[in-house]
Amino acid sequence: MMSRPQLKLTNTVLEGKAREMALEEAAESLARGSNTIMIDDEAWITVEMIATGALSPCTGFMNAEDYSSVLHTGRLADGTPWPTPLSFAVAGERNQNVLKGLKKGDVATLINRNKEPVARIITEEVFEYDREERAQCVFGTTDKRHPGVRSIYERMGERSLAGKVELISRPHWGAFEKYRLTPAQCIDYFYNKKGARTVVGFITGANPVHRGHEHIHRTALENHDMLLIQPLVQLAKPEYIRSEYRIQAYEALLNKYYQRDRVLMSPLRVTYIFAGPREAVLHAIVARNFGATHFAIGRDHAGVGNYYGDYECQTIFDRLYEGGSKELGIELLSFSEVFYCARCGTTATENTCPHGKQYRIAISGTAIRELMRYGYMPPKEIVRPEVAAIAMQGIQPKGLDENGNSIYPVGSIVKKLFPFYLVAKRLGGKLREKPLSWESLTLEDVERALMDVRENSDRILGDIAREMELVFDARRDMAAQWINEASEYSRERQLQLIKALEEKVASADPNADNRMFQSKAEAERELEMAKYVYECMNSKGLDHKKMTWNPLKYSEYR
Ligand SMILES: [Zn+2]
Repeated sequence: MMSRPQLKLTNTVLEGKAREMALEEAAESLARGSNTIMIDDEAWITVEMIATGALSPCTGFMNAEDYSSVLHTGRLADGTPWPTPLSFAVAGERNQNVLKGLKKGDVATLINRNKEPVARIITEEVFEYDREERAQCVFGTTDKRHPGVRSIYERMGERSLAGKVELISRPHWGAFEKYRLTPAQCIDYFYNKKGARTVVGFITGANPVHRGHEHIHRTALENHDMLLIQPLVQLAKPEYIRSEYRIQAYEALLNKYYQRDRVLMSPLRVTYIFAGPREAVLHAIVARNFGATHFAIGRDHAGVGNYYGDYECQTIFDRLYEGGSKELGIELLSFSEVFYCARCGTTATENTCPHGKQYRIAISGTAIRELMRYGYMPPKEIVRPEVAAIAMQGIQPKGLDENGNSIYPVGSIVKKLFPFYLVAKRLGGKLREKPLSWESLTLEDVERALMDVRENSDRILGDIAREMELVFDARRDMAAQWINEASEYSRERQLQLIKALEEKVASADPNADNRMFQSKAEAERELEMAKYVYECMNSKGLDHKKMTWNPLKYSEYR
């Protein structure tokens, strides 16, 4: 068993005398106007992560040797697994000039946008790096449409400063301040306060929490002591649902549907260092540093557009490291794509559900967000209503033009959430002769599919149950009397019809001209058919007394 409390965490947060001295030095440096570097909040957050041990065993920004080793082997120069470069390559001419002048041993003071000293770096070296090489190794592409690649070109300077980091003051986390926990605090909570033996880490991106996530959480909690949920906050692009709403949506879910004392939520304020399948590896390391023994990972963890294949985020562990994730000191819990099956009546995966696509409501965070942007509450089967209620407020329904038409094609929403609609005439219904092609679908199709889910997803299992109850409820008081009454009545009517037809047959003229009058033969066929229908209707159902045939008394059963 891995025992997290023994994990050695980096701690370079300056306190007491050391902090006072650092502040004094920083003040001198500011007065001289030398060796000060202006950083944005994102860099400050990265410094905080390093100093508090979230990125252990790293104690600072990488030197050229570690940098190159990480790019090409996914390991630090000493062999420690590490998937992504940790670089301090601040942009801006002034900053880059400061970097240029730094010598080994020089202390660089980092100042925030209010010109307050917040951290320092003890220079090891300054080196230049190749942007293209970095993009190719980290992201597997040099395509500048990839957000990670773009940020290398747009947000990073050409030189990188390597050296140990020391934190003087940490950033305030604003709306997330009360959720902020350091790795040491998480570990103390799990192992000292709660006595946990295993903790499953789960890191989640910019979409609202859905039942695919919940399925993973529940499965994890069946076998492990605690769950650590780390939503990434602050990274929000403008169109993404804002982090405050996502955190509140999480609260709604955790408080209403989870065993609250087995779950800890500790958001991560991440920056642009994270992206791609290598990000999955980094996340596993971060989760480990926050105390996780296991890391739950879905099919497309930290996916970006279509740059990576399904499950690449899971296979990369074995591709980079001989011992897979175990070499990182954490065990991987890999999950298949989760969907809701209306025939199973539950969330499921291909590993468990044998039913066809016609029963399936798929779960895609991106498509759920899209659906909300067109102003629709997502189905309860894939997003808990309490979560949707909050998420809907954090997302602006701006998908429509002034005429109420969608501004983008919407077929992919149907493809990603309602695959049944493409293959079947209704949810769980008869298959279409030819599947619909999603590219041509309109908002009306989205509405139809959504309406079908709302009206029929509960019915499928319900209909089957009622049918069975009608036959097999041995205690008939529960049986649906109105159905028995209705069929009794139609049997009676059928008898009346038979009587009328018998009278017609009796009085029919065998020699009638069939073009003018009905012949006796035709009347006889009518009667025959009416009797056949009666025969079919006349099954009286099971005789429940007869079904209780075993002579043993109730009390004699074990
Ligand atoms: Zn199923």
